[in-house]
Amino acid sequence: MEMKKSGYSPKTNFVLQDVKEQEKEQILCGHSEKLAAAFGLLSTRLGSPLREIRTLGFLFAGWNTVSWSLSSGNSSVDHSTKKGKVIGLYFAANWYPPCWNFTQVLSGIYEELKTNGSNFEIVYVSSDEDSDAFNSYHSGMPWLAIPFSDLETKKALNRKFDVEGIPCLVILQPNDNKEDATLHDGVELVYRFGVEAFPFTKERLEKLHEELREKHDNQTLTCLLTNHDRDFLLGHPGPKQVPVASLTGKTVGLYFSAQWCIPCVKFDPKLISIYQKIKQTPEGEDFEIVFVSHDRDQESFDSYFDKMPWLALPFGDPAAKDLAKHFDVKGIPCLVILGPDGKTVTKQGRNLINLYQENAYPFTEAKVEVLEKQIDEEAKSLPRSVFHSGHRHELSLVSEGNGGGPFICCSCDEQGCGWAYLCLECGYEVHPRCVTAGAQACTGNS
Ligand SMILES: [Zn+2]
Ligand SMILES: [Zn+2]
Repeated sequence: MEMKKSGYSPKTNFVLQDVKEQEKEQILCGHSEKLAAAFGLLSTRLGSPLREIRTLGFLFAGWNTVSWSLSSGNSSVDHSTKKGKVIGLYFAANWYPPCWNFTQVLSGIYEELKTNGSNFEIVYVSSDEDSDAFNSYHSGMPWLAIPFSDLETKKALNRKFDVEGIPCLVILQPNDNKEDATLHDGVELVYRFGVEAFPFTKERLEKLHEELREKHDNQTLTCLLTNHDRDFLLGHPGPKQVPVASLTGKTVGLYFSAQWCIPCVKFDPKLISIYQKIKQTPEGEDFEIVFVSHDRDQESFDSYFDKMPWLALPFGDPAAKDLAKHFDVKGIPCLVILGPDGKTVTKQGRNLINLYQENAYPFTEAKVEVLEKQIDEEAKSLPRSVFHSGHRHELSLVSEGNGGGPFICCSCDEQGCGWAYLCLECGYEVHPRCVTAGAQACTGNS
């Protein structure tokens, strides 16, 4: 109750037992000093007398007073050394594969920042299953960790920073207690900007985004697809070399893909057939696709590229990684479209191909607008409801305005938006073009 008087408000939603509110408060206040202090510190709001809690120096100092210790190998660390540092709270677990890659990337950046004397520290907040897993995972990390046994702190930090998924990197600024100084998207920033992201301040990130915009404004096909010792792409039959300069003035699709990726392999036949259809039209002569491989070895690259009718960056070329970074490719397959001037037209090439097939060419905003209007026009002549052979209920025509929206077609598994046939009863949704003819016959029988 003393704590309550002095401003501590117990967050009773932490207490999961089925008891009265007052009892919950008592449970919280009567809990170990450590837990109460941690909750007190962690749940203090901005503007209260404990305003400084937002700065990690204070947070660590606070922990210190309740004999907290951070483990780094076997030695405990003096928290006063944390003052004035940018702190990354790294939420991860050894059992979750996406954390493995990020831990490696983060280690590289951490070592680099340490070497150049930057004031950066990372604290690992583990979701490992047991202490053996924790110990072995943490032993590969060059930074500190909340001890595995300290469940309360780990839970409190997860709550405090609303951690919804791992890996998650929360960045705290040393001398900035403003709410918006804390960044929750450290993982994305590290992937996107690497060591350049440091010290993760608003000013720094604004500058990086500004540079990025400039880079995109000034991008040319040549600077994207060549490097100092290569000015060609691979063509068929191998080992044919096609000069990058020959693509100038064309609409170019960069196809990020890999043979090990099932959605890629599924999308390939469609892209190949549409590519060939576009190439057959007079205006489609100026269309080209360049395969940017995410394959794991030369052999799979060779056998994969062999089936593609277009060009490719050589396997292992550093430009592949640079391009993925430049266009912020988050998943494959991905088709980025560049216009005749080398500027980005759209990163949604795959969706546009799925929606409009060869008609999507040249993928410009103006073209998409025309196609959307056309589809609205066509929809006027579509029946309001149909029966489709793949489903036993009646399907209703919907659009974005009346119950529709982006969907995955249950018939062809590809994305759709705009007009669709939807079963209002069970959510089954298909492209209008995927409704199979002859289905009407079923209605007569059932
Ligand atoms: Zn479909
Ligand atoms: Zn249904």
